[in-house]
Amino acid sequence: MALDEATLVLNRSWVVIHTTSVRRALTLAVNRVAKILAPDTFEVHDFESWSQLGVRNGEPSVRTVSLHIKVPEIIVLSAYDAIPKKEVPFTRRNLYKRDHLTCQYCGSRSTTEALSIDHVVPRSRGGKTTWQNCVLACVRCNVRKGNRTPAEAGMKLLASPLRPRWGPTLSIPIAKRRLSWKQFVSERYWNAELHD
Ligand SMILES: [Zn+2]
Repeated sequence: MALDEATLVLNRSWVVIHTTSVRRALTLAVNRVAKILAPDTFEVHDFESWSQLGVRNGEPSVRTVSLHIKVPEIIVLSAYDAIPKKEVPFTRRNLYKRDHLTCQYCGSRSTTEALSIDHVVPRSRGGKTTWQNCVLACVRCNVRKGNRTPAEAGMKLLASPLRPRWGPTLSIPIAKRRLSWKQFVSERYWNAELHD
């Protein structure tokens, strides 16, 4: 049902915040908390002017008792500037992504199964399980390094391990994404560093 489908929510600066249902998006527009963005023209409408646009053949639409209106695919909040502050969670998946499935000692690229997570400062010596102390290592390098620091083992990291700079992935299933969101949900946007 169209009302249960997704609408992209932007803040006042047109930065993606999250998604909501079409039903909720319409409520926000009716209550003047949000305006509706026309994806083709970038015109911003309040609920009244949006409902007066009418519905062309084949356009996704919703019917209320008295109205037949186009589905709002993108809304812009009227009074919210914040960017969601989420750090990239330290997960196995994200660590594999950060290190590009590559051993951080010898640079060999491998499969997920053939790589393990190496604690740069070994756990037995107080090394923490953090972005800064964990890297991917191939079996050969892992065995060679053993229970030593890279310096002790005469090995060198290809790069200093850091918390990744890419933003958290937008948790919208690809199947649910609308074509009109593309200009907002871009790779460039999601790779940009977030500041406080
Ligand atoms: Zn290696």
